[in-house]
Amino acid sequence: MDQQGLIKKRCIVCNKLLPLEKFYKNKGNKDKRQNLCKDCDKEQSANYYKKNSNKIIKRHWRWIENNREKHNQIAYRSSKKRKQEKKDEYKI
Ligand SMILES: [Zn+2]
Repeated sequence: MDQQGLIKKRCIVCNKLLPLEKFYKNKGNKDKRQNLCKDCDKEQSANYYKKNSNKIIKRHWRWIENNREKHNQIAYRSSKKRKQEKKDEYKI
């Protein structure tokens, strides 16, 4: 009665006819399998992650660069000028 291995399904992404084992389970679908095969699912999720992580990294680096400039200026002023300012304050 085990005919699951014989039943094949066409992947909507790579268009290959593959056994159901090659598809992840999806209770929402009629045949309880996803419409794209495991390999394509992995590739798509990897691409999705890459795109997202690139966006996140780019934003993150912009944020860091912008803040680092301010931060460095503030740190530079506060570390170098504070000493002089204190000296000047004492002089005045
Ligand atoms: Zn596929």
